[in-house]
Order: sequence, then structure tokens, then C-alpha cells
Amino acid sequence: MPEKPVRVRYAPSPTGYPHVGNIRTALFNWLYARHNKGSFIVRIEDTDTARTVDGAVEVIMDSLKWLGMDWDEGPDKPGKYGPYRQSERLEYYQKAAEKLLAQGDAYYCYCSSGRLEEMRSAQIARKEPPGYDRKCRDLSAEERAFARASCPRPVIRFKAPLEGSTSFCDVIRGEVSFENRTIDDFILLKADGYPTYHLASVVDDNAMDISHVMRAEEWISSTPKHVLLYRALGFNAPQFAHLPMILGPDRSKLSKRHGAVSITQYRDDGYLPEAMVNFLALLGWSLDDKTDIINIQTLVENFTLERIGKTAAVFNREKLEWMNGIYIRSLEVSELAKLAMPFLEQELPASVSRPVDEEYVKKVIPLVQERAKTIKEIPSLVYFFFTPDIEYPAELLIGKKMDVKTTLNALEKTLDILKESEEFDHDSLEHRLRPLAEELGLKAGQLFGAVRVAVTGVTVSPPLFETMMVMGRQACLERLEKAVEKLNCPEK
Ligand code: GLU
Repeated sequence: MPEKPVRVRYAPSPTGYPHVGNIRTALFNWLYARHNKGSFIVRIEDTDTARTVDGAVEVIMDSLKWLGMDWDEGPDKPGKYGPYRQSERLEYYQKAAEKLLAQGDAYYCYCSSGRLEEMRSAQIARKEPPGYDRKCRDLSAEERAFARASCPRPVIRFKAPLEGSTSFCDVIRGEVSFENRTIDDFILLKADGYPTYHLASVVDDNAMDISHVMRAEEWISSTPKHVLLYRALGFNAPQFAHLPMILGPDRSKLSKRHGAVSITQYRDDGYLPEAMVNFLALLGWSLDDKTDIINIQTLVENFTLERIGKTAAVFNREKLEWMNGIYIRSLEVSELAKLAMPFLEQELPASVSRPVDEEYVKKVIPLVQERAKTIKEIPSLVYFFFTPDIEYPAELLIGKKMDVKTTLNALEKTLDILKESEEFDHDSLEHRLRPLAEELGLKAGQLFGAVRVAVTGVTVSPPLFETMMVMGRQACLERLEKAVEKLNCPEK
């Protein structure tokens, strides 16, 4: 058990909707907090006003809620460490920047964006790493007064050490060290009075008593800057844990092309939150290197930083689908029916009367529960149960090694047999139709194939007799009659 109470944060910038990578970070922080009975804090890092996207904060919160990640402190849950939106904390950053200025650890930079741009292009042309040339670092009082006249709103930069190195201990990677000469005199406070990510992150992680900073590996090169800031501000640094990258199946950085769409898109595509959490947890963490299906309680009970890997995790959408299928199969029928309702309301053809009958849905659902990989695909697997009519070309009725005549005969005989008795359960269908196939000199599959198309309009459906039972005798007889008509006059 760590000595300090565990306080971890998820610190998204509302510059877009959270995708797999962001939410994996949120989940690892949440699991760590819950495992250690600590606090999970949501902090909105909205200091890049130009890139802030309207509505992103709501989508971030919705994504967390959907996945069951509750937070102890956040924009809507004021705690003693609030406010939890950086745009409401500007005074803290200003104070810190002033302190650094007063100590000589920071300086005003008056360089115009034109000059910085030119410098950057020249550095790139010379194949040098781009960075500020420190022109304003050691200005005399006179030079400063002169510069201020043409630039009344300078930025504030950190005076990075020119020699030596800065190291920190990463919980996952061990000792990490950066040469100070590679660290730029980065900006702390912008001309608009807003902080950069570096300053805001350090000030807040300190002010909010954050014990562990767990974030994606892409931030690791920012960490030496943060370490320097912690030192200069006289703060104790938290522990750092940089989570392994997530790659697409082709091992390039995960992008939209690989299905790294926003998390809410997965919800809209019919994924279950439980499956999503399980899948995300395994992107860089493992229980024992072999177990794939792990429910949320087990994750919470077992989530330790030791089991986070260093090597990149690969995002595999087929695995997610497979997992989703497993979670779908584990649901109670009534639960799955309830979850399927909005998709059915939305996707079933207009010919189906609304509201869709949930009691009927409960009868249909068991027939596809084994097969559905997402809830969204359910309407396409079951629509023929609901539509007053089905559409298909007459040729579909004619199976392998059959022709119009044999198919017509087979369907007419099926009709005759089904009309003879009111019985319509699985066994009675089986006991009447199997011998019929034999009598007609057909394989069972040939006869059932034609009947299947006649009652569903498709060649692949849930088990035939169960399908027929749920549809009901009357509807099946009507559809078989229509099929016979179709074969008699194919233009129908
Ligand atoms: N605002 C940063 C982000 O969007 C936070 C990085 C961090 O966790 O320090 O990912």
C-alpha cells in the first residue's frame, strides 16, 4: 500500500471527443483509485481556448458514466480542491509564474510570432530540433523596457538549465533521464494570461494533492519539464506512470482508420460497457497473461501498476467484437431485449408499427443471442419477425440441386402438412417435415432451405423451427402461400 492516500486524476482537454486512448487512461486511473480505495478526480484542462470544442466536456462525462467510471471530485462535484476546470483557476497559474519570475527561474519573452516562425523554419531547414533561441533570456533592464514598448503582453518562459540532466523514476519504466540541453525554454504563461499545459498540470497536480500521475506515454517527454517545475516551485513531485502506447493491428499509431473513434460511437454501435471496460483494461495491463474475460469487480480487485506492461498494446477490433459477443450472451434475455429496443425502434423498417412490442422482442431475442456481436446488428438479424411482409426474389427459394418444379412441390406439400394440424411446436415441426423431405427424395437441408427463405426471406437465419414457432403458425402459412404464388408467377 502506498503511504500517501491515492489520489489520481483524469485530465482531458476538451479539444475533441474522447477516444480509445484517452478512455484507457481514464480507466487505469479509475481502477487504480478504486483498487486502493483512493480518489478519482476529473479535471478539465481547457486552457487551449482556440481548440476547445463545444459540448466536448459533456461527451467526456457521458463516456465515463456509460462505462461506469464514477468520480469523487470533478467539475460537477466540487470538493475542497476545486474548481476543477483550469479556465477557472487562472489566478493559481499566474501566481506560480510570478513566483518563478521573482526567483529568476522564468523570464518575459517579447519575441513576435513572426520571429519565432522564421526561427523555426530556419531550424527545420538546418535539420536542427526546433526550439526557442533564448533571445530574451538575459535581457538587460534597458533592453527589456525597450522590448516591452513594442510588445506590451509578453509571454513568460521557463529558464531551463543548460547543462546536466533531469531524471525521474517512472513506476512502469524505472529511471528515465533527459539531457537538459534538449529541454526548451518552454512557455509557462501565454500572452492571453492562460497557462500552457506544463504549468497548469504541475500547479494543479500539486494543489490537488495528486499522488500518481498516470498518463499516456506520449507525455513522457513533458515530464522532465514538469520535474524541473516541481523543483523550482518547491513542490514534491507525484509518482509518474506512463502507460504503453496503443497501436493499430498494422503496428502504426492508433488512428480513426483502425476504429479509434469516439467512445460514445461504440455505445451507439451497440457495444456493451462491460465489454468495453474489459477490452480497454487489457490494452497494456494483464491479469495473468492469459485470462481475457475479466469482469469489473475482478479488475478492481487485481489492478496493480506492476502488471502494466512497457510494450505497446495492439488494438484489435475483432477481439472487441468477440468479447462483446460473450457479454451479450451472458445477459438475461429481458436485459438484452431492453437494450435492443432503441436499436429496433430506430432500425426496423417503417412498415413495422411502433412502438415495437417488447414482449415479442423477448421471444425473438433468444434466437439471436448466440450470434449477435453487437446490439446494433440485432435489427438486421430479426427484422423479418416484425415486418408485415418480406421481400426477396423468387430464385432465392430454389436451393442447390433444385428447380422451380421441385421447390414448388416441396413448399406445397409443406403447406398441406402444416395445415393438417394446429400443432406448431419444435417437435411436431421436426416430426412432420423431416419425413416429408425423405418422401420427396430431398435432403432435409434442401427442404428446410426453401422453407426458411419462404418464411424469413433470407438464406441464413436463426434455427428454423424456433423461428417458425416464434413467428406463429398463421404468419408462416401466409408466407409459405406467398412463396408458392411467387414460384407460380415469378414476376410477383
Ligand atoms: N490534458 C492532457 C491530455 O489531454 C493531460 C495529460 C496529463 O495527463 O498530464 O491528455
